[in-house]
Amino acid sequence: MTTYDIVLANGRILDGCGNPWFWGDLAIQQGKIVAIAPAGTLQGSQTVNCAGRFVAPGFIDIHTHSDLSILVNHQAESAVRQGVTTQVIGNCGMSPAPVDEAHIDEIRSQWGPISDQPEVSWEWRTFAGYLKTLQSCGLGINLAALAGHGALRIAVMGLDEGNATATQLDQMKGLLAEAMQAGAFGMSTGLVYPPGCYASTEEIIALCRVVSKYHGLYTSHIRGERETILDAVAEAIYIGCEAGVPVQISHNAPKYGAPYDAHANLRLVEEARRQGQDVTVDNDVHTDLAPTLTGGLPQHIMDRPSSELSDMLRNPQVRNQIRDEIVQDLKPAFGPVGLLKHGQWQRITLLHAPKNPEVVGKTIQTIANERGKEPFDTYFDLIIENGHAAEAIFDYIDETNIRILLQHPAVMISSDGQVLAPYGFLNDPIPYQPCSYGEFPGVLERYVRDEPVLTLQEAIRKMTSFPAQRLGLQDRGVLREGAWADIVIFDLERIRDRATNLYPHTYPFENYPHQYPEGIDYVFVNGAMVVDGEEHTGELPGVVLGHRI
Ligand SMILES: [Zn+2]
Repeated sequence: MTTYDIVLANGRILDGCGNPWFWGDLAIQQGKIVAIAPAGTLQGSQTVNCAGRFVAPGFIDIHTHSDLSILVNHQAESAVRQGVTTQVIGNCGMSPAPVDEAHIDEIRSQWGPISDQPEVSWEWRTFAGYLKTLQSCGLGINLAALAGHGALRIAVMGLDEGNATATQLDQMKGLLAEAMQAGAFGMSTGLVYPPGCYASTEEIIALCRVVSKYHGLYTSHIRGERETILDAVAEAIYIGCEAGVPVQISHNAPKYGAPYDAHANLRLVEEARRQGQDVTVDNDVHTDLAPTLTGGLPQHIMDRPSSELSDMLRNPQVRNQIRDEIVQDLKPAFGPVGLLKHGQWQRITLLHAPKNPEVVGKTIQTIANERGKEPFDTYFDLIIENGHAAEAIFDYIDETNIRILLQHPAVMISSDGQVLAPYGFLNDPIPYQPCSYGEFPGVLERYVRDEPVLTLQEAIRKMTSFPAQRLGLQDRGVLREGAWADIVIFDLERIRDRATNLYPHTYPFENYPHQYPEGIDYVFVNGAMVVDGEEHTGELPGVVLGHRI
């Protein structure tokens, strides 16, 4: 009888393809799955007793923003503790490469304070250079990178609001081709954020033709997820059609202010698929987001220094102009701004306000009542008082839509979070990102075990083989002989997300500061055990994956 390196014995094996579990043993040798057989038949030098637990492919998170935080926390704690073994970075138009010397300050400013951390060297200029930096630091998980359209545009024309000239477009195409050759899986856009919001549809099509040449993927934070959501979905599909690229519509839940529920945008996706276009969707299951209050300001001023924003908001005339611009929303702003536009002040709860901590835990509506001011003015006053340090929880998604999306076969699960850890820089100030700690266990706990919104095998498919297929990863996301041994072993009965806080909030906030989930007992990345009995082993077996052309 062969003795394998490691045998995962007597588990309920879920292959990741949507099939129900079966009792089995699984053997790992040199990073790969080398045997799968009936329970009790395989022998290993090391045996993990999986009795009572499920054995599934490691989760693939197709939408994250860990581009810089993974440099600060190589172990990828918040991800791997959820069972995530691969993350896609470079989403929403934001990747930290390529970088042009003339515009390095602009790209750095987009990433905020993490940009100045000592671990974030900014020594790279090219996309290949950035990937090399990532790989050289040792990784707790695998990474797949997208080239951000915003980064390409900043490298060529900074935060210029105008159209790209023919020469500038050619330069962007050149940088994108370089990124694709270096191993990028495609290009992402963030069409509500600067500078993506300044780009025409034609600019994106021209760039996607380069992606098409390398058989990559186009992913998009679309141009408005509220009032204009159907136009924005249609634009993404049109871009894919014109350029001949598969399309992934990112975190595509309608946000507060959208006139339709999620069925309406899913119908556009279904129609495109009927016509032979490869369009898919991902979504996160949280109804809230905790950006800075300044993130709600018009795009062309939102990144200015706090002092400059204070001066603007102290001038009554400028303040009125800014208010009008927010309400008109001509260049659709990101989702949470719908709450400002529609006066939903009771759905905005203060999280950080260093200059007036007494407002934390209260809604803008309550603070306004206490101050005897209009809520919109209160919002602006809190920015004057705290600048970019003021953050709030915006409850801007209806949970009904999350269920609709979860149940659609063309929708996979993504976190839209990033690698975090409950210590050090990544915990100061303490972030509110339940998706970064609790996405995948939360789905299993709330939408599989406690309420049968999804079957277990379908939930696992949406976390594993489906995103793997989307990325062209034929040897991950499934439990099959010959595949890489990215594996999670969990106890569905014990699974508990300890990061999610449901609306309406009570204060102090439940599950905040966030903690790691419970019930994710073992995680293997490329055959090495990274989580052992709910503890990180310190192993760094992750690799930077390259897109196969
Ligand atoms: Zn986004």
